Amino acid sequence: MLTRADSANFLRENGYGDSIVCLHSSFKSLGEVEGGPDSVIDGFLDAGCTLLVPAFYYLSVTAPTGRNYFRNGIDYANRTFDPRPFTGAADQIDPSMGIIPRKVLERPETVRSSHPCNGFAAIGPRARELMEGQDYLNVYSAYKRIFESDSEAWIFMLGTALTSCTPIHFAEERSGREPFRRWAVAGDTTVEVQAGSCSDGFSNFENELVGMDERFSLGESVLRVFAFRAFVEAVTEIILTNPRISACDNPRCLRCPDMIAGGPILR
Ligand SMILES: [Zn+2]
Repeated sequence: MLTRADSANFLRENGYGDSIVCLHSSFKSLGEVEGGPDSVIDGFLDAGCTLLVPAFYYLSVTAPTGRNYFRNGIDYANRTFDPRPFTGAADQIDPSMGIIPRKVLERPETVRSSHPCNGFAAIGPRARELMEGQDYLNVYSAYKRIFESDSEAWIFMLGTALTSCTPIHFAEERSGREPFRRWAVAGDTTVEVQAGSCSDGFSNFENELVGMDERFSLGESVLRVFAFRAFVEAVTEIILTNPRISACDNPRCLRCPDMIAGGPILR
C-alpha cells in the first residue's frame, strides 16, 4: 500500500523535491493508497513540490452573433451546450480530470484560474506565481510562466496516456496554432475564452518521443516523467515538421482539421 511518506520519499530520492510538477494522473492506477488521494497530494507538498493540474469543466454557450470565427472547430447547429455559470466551486470539474485534481480544488490554499472551461489549479509554494497573469484569452499562461522561467519543472504522467497531456496544447500554440475560441458564462457575463484542440490523437507523438521519459513504479502504477522544457520544445518541433501528427482517427472530427490548418481566423 502506498503511503504519504512513500510518495514524498520517492520524490526526494529521485530529485523531484522542490520542483514544479504538472501532474496528469489516474489515482486508481496506484492501487491501494493509505489516506486516499489527499495523501498523494500531501506527499508532493511534503517534498516541497508545487503541483499544477488541469481542472477542466466543459461549460459553454453558443457564439454571439457575428463571432462564429472561421476554422474554429465547431458546428453550432449540431452542438449541445451547458450554459450554467462558472463559479469556481470545487465540484465544477469534469470527472475525466480524475480525483486528484478534484481534491486539489477542495483545499483552501489552492489557486484556481478563472477560466470556465479549460482552467488549471495549482497548490504549493509557487502556486500563486504560476497562476499570475492567467485570463480567458491566455489559457496556457501557467505553462508559459514555467517555460519562460528557469525553474525545474516536470511532466508526470501517472498511469495516463499522452492523450491526457495538456502541455501538448501549449506546444501547439508555440508552433503557431491559434487556440480555438469558445463562449461561456462566468458570473453573470458571457465571456470569450481560448480552448484546447482535440487530444484524441496525441498518442501519435509516442514514437517521436522515445527515450525522453524516465519510468518508475509508484504504488502499482507506472509513472513516466518528462522534463517540461525539453518536452515542450520537442513537441513543438515535431508539430512544425509534421503538422498532421496530432490528428485523431475520427474522420468526422471537426477540431483536428481546423487546428492542423492553424486554428481560428480571428477577425
Ligand atoms: Zn480529433
